[in-house]
Amino acid sequence: MKLKQIYTLVIVNVLLILVSMPACAQDLLARQAPVDRRMRTVDTLSIKSIIEREMAENPAAQLYDEWENTYAHRATELPDSFRINLRNFCMPTTNRVVTSKMGPRWGRMHKGIDIKVYIGDTIRAAFSGKVRIKKYERAGYGKYLVIRHNNGLETIYGHMSDWLVEENQTVKAGQPIGLGGNTGRSTGSHLHFETRLCGVALNPALFFDFPNQDVTADYYMFRKNSYERESASANNNIRMDARQSEAVAQNRRQNSDDNQKMRQYSETRYHKVSAGETLTSIAKRRGVTVEQLCKLNHLTRDVKVRPGQILRYS
Ligand SMILES: [Zn+2]
Repeated sequence: MKLKQIYTLVIVNVLLILVSMPACAQDLLARQAPVDRRMRTVDTLSIKSIIEREMAENPAAQLYDEWENTYAHRATELPDSFRINLRNFCMPTTNRVVTSKMGPRWGRMHKGIDIKVYIGDTIRAAFSGKVRIKKYERAGYGKYLVIRHNNGLETIYGHMSDWLVEENQTVKAGQPIGLGGNTGRSTGSHLHFETRLCGVALNPALFFDFPNQDVTADYYMFRKNSYERESASANNNIRMDARQSEAVAQNRRQNSDDNQKMRQYSETRYHKVSAGETLTSIAKRRGVTVEQLCKLNHLTRDVKVRPGQILRYS
């Protein structure tokens, strides 16, 4: 009993001495470290939760009541103001040359922006979202897609040569969704790109700066009463000097690794099938693969070609 009391006393004294001793730098650091670690964890957690919250928040759900695959766009009432999150974007094409702005053109309204692309160029989803429309419109958009994004915008990609996604498919920002083309009402291959809010076409130049391959800001605050003014000034900011555009295009063509590929794509050549020819013999003669022939002409490998048939081979 006595021994235990002495023992306790010793322990208490030792503890008192330890506590009253001035803490040396080493001790302070040692004590600080776990606190720092905890703080860092808290920081990371809070940033993570902010990002997760942003991702989970689906402003599109506030704007649209229905999901349908019929109409590319039906204008509904625009909100007085709406904050559009432009973070986590991807430029739909790496091409920088704007060939036509949004605005009145040839007696009608051009509701998007045209960017020079070559046939076969990869077109990517501008933001994450879900494919609402995948259609072909001979006298209009050609092969096109409408994607509804979580940030509330809908984007339209027109005149493509092919689609790489299906209707109702969820897509991530940057995911390849189609190939550049010249389908529909179009002269020369290009991407017709629209950005819409509640079905109403807003100037894509408010969000995307194609010459600089960037978004205009982290957010765009849409306000009904200042939209027109901002849209006009966004248009004025687009460099459209033809010579400059051509110089950029030229430079890009020269620098680009797939220079050769683009030239190939931009020259369309045809072959007229003679009696006795097959896909294999034509491919051999024209120096392309059977796969390329099939892809260019939307054929399957086992199809029999007939004399007189015109096939594209580049
Ligand atoms: Zn256009």
